[in-house]
Amino acid sequence: MFENLTQRMSRVVKTLRGEARLTESNTQDMLREVRLALLEADVALPVVREFVARIKEKALGHEVADSLNPGQALVGIVHSELTALMGGDLGEGASELSLATQPPAIILMAGLQGAGKTTTTGKLAKWLTEGGHVQQGRKSGKKKVLVVSADVYRPAAIDQLKTVAEQAKVDFLPSDPSQKPEAIATGAVEHAKRHHYDILIVDTAGRLGVDEAMMREIRSLHDLLNPIETLFVVDAMQGQDAVNTAKAFGDALPLTGVVLTKLDGDARGGAALSVRHVTGKPLKFVGVSEKLDGLEPFHPERMAQRVLGMGDIVSLVEQAQKNIDIAEAQKMAAKLKSSSRFDLNDFRDQLQQVKKMGDMGSLLEKLPAQFSQAASQLQGGQAEKQLRRTEGILNAMTPQERAKPELLKASRKRRIAAGSGVPVQEVNRLLAQFEQMQGMMKQMKKGGMAKMMRAMGG
Ligand code: GDP
Repeated sequence: MFENLTQRMSRVVKTLRGEARLTESNTQDMLREVRLALLEADVALPVVREFVARIKEKALGHEVADSLNPGQALVGIVHSELTALMGGDLGEGASELSLATQPPAIILMAGLQGAGKTTTTGKLAKWLTEGGHVQQGRKSGKKKVLVVSADVYRPAAIDQLKTVAEQAKVDFLPSDPSQKPEAIATGAVEHAKRHHYDILIVDTAGRLGVDEAMMREIRSLHDLLNPIETLFVVDAMQGQDAVNTAKAFGDALPLTGVVLTKLDGDARGGAALSVRHVTGKPLKFVGVSEKLDGLEPFHPERMAQRVLGMGDIVSLVEQAQKNIDIAEAQKMAAKLKSSSRFDLNDFRDQLQQVKKMGDMGSLLEKLPAQFSQAASQLQGGQAEKQLRRTEGILNAMTPQERAKPELLKASRKRRIAAGSGVPVQEVNRLLAQFEQMQGMMKQMKKGGMAKMMRAMGG
C-alpha cells in the first residue's frame, strides 16, 4: 500500500533529520521533494499546492528556526500537516462510526459497482459483531448485526451478500429481486426491530458510473431509512477518479464518511490523502485485503506516520492483541524462562501464534520503512506461503523429533522432506534457522532483551 509515496517521503524525512541548520536552499529542496512525491501519488493538484504552501509558511516561521533541531522540527510539521490533510483536524473520534441511537442503528452503504460495497458490508458487520468498534479499556460491545441487500438489479448481488454474510458469521435477511428496494428496506427495519438487532447494514445497488436514476434511488432509500451512517465505498486504485466520484456522491447525498477499499493494491495512495480535503467527509475505514478481516478504522495520525516511513506501531500492536491468545503467549513466555531449552515443539507453537496475528502482508506494512523494505520480498503472500511450508515440515516430524532435534539424521530428514513435500535442503535450512533462534533464546535468558537486540545489530 502506497509503497512509492512512503519510499519518497521517508527519504525526505531521513535527509531532513540530518540537517542541523535550515537554509533557504535545503528547505526548497525538501518542498520540491514533497511536492513531487504527492503528485506522483496522484494527489489532486490544488491539494498539493495548498499542502506545500502550508508547510512552507510554517517552516519559514519561528516554529522551526528557533527549535534546537530544525530538521526534526520540519519533520514534525510535515507529519502534523499530513495528519490534518487526512482529517486529523476533525478531532478525536471523528473518524469513528457513530452508533448512538435508538436501535437498530442503520448504516447505508453506497458506491459504484465493483467498488467493494458488498465485501465491505460483510467486513463491517463482522467487525461490529466482534466488538471492533469498542475502544480498548471500554466495556465489551459486541453487536447483534443484520445485513440486507437492496440490490435488485444485478442478478447475483443478493446471493453474493448471503455468501459474504455466511463467511462473516453474521445474520443475513433474504430479499427478493422482484421487490422494490424501498420495500426491502422497510421490511428489513421492521425485522431488525422485532428481533432486537443493534445494527442494520443495508447494501445497495451500484452502477458503472454516477447516474441520475441511481442517485434518486439511493436518496429515496436514505430518506426512508434515515441512517445514522451513510458510507460511500470507493476503490482507492481509482486515484483522483475515486475522490471525484466520492465528491459527486457527497454533493447528492448526506454522506457521513468514506471507505477506501483495495488500499492493499494501491502503490500511490493519492485517494487516501485527498479524499478528506476534496469531499469534506472523513475517511472512516480502509480495506486492506480481500479477506473479511481486511478492514481497518482509519486514523489520520497513524496513517501520516506510515506515509512518512515511521511505521504504524499502534495498529500493529492492536492487531496482534486482537488475535493473539494472551494466555497462550504468557504460558510460552513462562516456559521459555523456566525450561532449559527451546525445542521445535515450542517453535511450532510460536508459528501458530504468528499465524493468528493475521494477514502477514498487512502486518509487515505497519513496520517502519527500513524494516518493511527488508521484508518486502516476503510480500504477495510469500510470507504466508513460507509459514505454511515451515509448519508442514514441523508437522511431518514426530513429537520426539521436535523435542530432540539432534535425532534428525539424514534418513529422518529425508522422510520429513518427503512427508512435507519439500527438498531436504529446506529441512536443513529450517534446522539451521532454528539453531540460530535457540542461540538467541539463550542470550535472551542470560542477558535480557537489550543484549539480544545488540546481537541482532539493532
Ligand atoms: P461491489 O460491486 O461494490 O459490491 O463490490 P464487491 O464487494 O463485489 O467487490 C469487488 C471486488 O473487489 C471483489 O473481488 C472483492 O474481493 C474485491 N475487494 C473488495 N475490497 C477489497 C480490498 O480491500 N482489497 C482487495 N484486495 N480486494 C477487495
